[in-house]
Amino acid sequence: MAPLIPTPHGSKIITNTKINQISTILSSSIPQLEPYDSLYRTFHANPELSGCEVETAARIALHLRQFSNPAFTIHETIGGHGIIAILENGAGETVLLRADMDALPIKERTNLPYASTVPSVAHACGHDMHITTLLASASALHASAPNWHGTLLLLFQPAEEDGTGAQSVCADPTYGHILRTFPPSVLLGAHVVPAPFGLVAVRKGAMTSNSDSLHITIFGRGGHASMPESTIDPVVLAAYIIIRLQSIVSREVAPRQHAVITVGSLQAGQAENVIPSSAILKINIRTFNSEVRKQVLKAVRRVVDAECSASGCEKAAVIKETLSLPMVWNDGGATDMLSTTFEGIFGSRGGFVGDINPLPGSEDFGHLVTGAERPGVFWVYGCMDPALFETSNTGPGEAFVPKMPIPSNHSAEFAPEIEGTLRTAVETYVAAALTWLL
Ligand SMILES: [Zn+2]
Ligand SMILES: [Zn+2]
Repeated sequence: MAPLIPTPHGSKIITNTKINQISTILSSSIPQLEPYDSLYRTFHANPELSGCEVETAARIALHLRQFSNPAFTIHETIGGHGIIAILENGAGETVLLRADMDALPIKERTNLPYASTVPSVAHACGHDMHITTLLASASALHASAPNWHGTLLLLFQPAEEDGTGAQSVCADPTYGHILRTFPPSVLLGAHVVPAPFGLVAVRKGAMTSNSDSLHITIFGRGGHASMPESTIDPVVLAAYIIIRLQSIVSREVAPRQHAVITVGSLQAGQAENVIPSSAILKINIRTFNSEVRKQVLKAVRRVVDAECSASGCEKAAVIKETLSLPMVWNDGGATDMLSTTFEGIFGSRGGFVGDINPLPGSEDFGHLVTGAERPGVFWVYGCMDPALFETSNTGPGEAFVPKMPIPSNHSAEFAPEIEGTLRTAVETYVAAALTWLL
């Protein structure tokens, strides 16, 4: 993975006059949200897995086609089932707004009236909220087109969850041509998080972690459970590897750095009386620094090879990288501009945090930013009823302490509140775009 280097760019000063203009446009151009509430329910009830977003894409394109004078130029099948819609509105800067659109292989257990109708597939990460937000933002920016100038690119990105979508979009020749024709001043993306709705948060630099997944196959020698002396037991070997891997974070990574190594899966054998001949470990590694990432990956290989050698394996382990997502790096100057706008719009309501901790999760938005070689900013917004949180802990910068455990993204019970979340989310997208387009 290429190191993430902040892209140089020209920052603009965001004046109070500009913030007032943005505020006026927000109050006059954001559409009635009832139709978008029902559109959200439709997306939620009809989730599609990564790479299968056919109906989702068709609904998005149908919605975008209703806007005219000026109309969006719509390109479909971008990097799979992605869509890019272009609104050319005179000379000026170009802004790309991105929403991901896929669901997860999870059986929904929310009991909501609009719960998934697709067996074992659910919008458990909130990408249905992202799609709906971007469509409502499209309406607001279309309605306010006489007030701004420049080019708006709306990217509905497929296959975020399996980590392939952003790379497929970047490899799509149509997308490449569009970026060369309309080089964006900034790429903007966002995600729902299980915090009170009304809250918006961002940070400069590393916003999410690097995520690396490995499948490791170790080879022993199988045999009868009663005769271990004639075997090389890969289960015992796997156990040593798992324990030893945990010492990488505790003993090799500096305490001021962050790293997580999780062995999420260990598969070996079928029967209690058979020593299997091999075992497979599936490992996920999270880091917030490219040097630490390299150090941890190197240490994992060293530990696996050394433990195989210690067990007397006759065949070297096979280590396969199955997923590698770079961290999302929020450009310093672009984040300053956006933070000034967000502080002006949301700060007075007590809902903006400009220096949150990096998110432990990962996002393939980082691929879009590095692929475009342009600055990017990624923020988060809350999607839960504020009444679910202790009131003394809901101010900006406070830890948000829920009164009871709240199902988070990727939980079968993840259930964002719709109305309050949608309103703030649309305001963030529109205000962010206007930061560059006014
Ligand atoms: Zn997710
Ligand atoms: Zn997600």
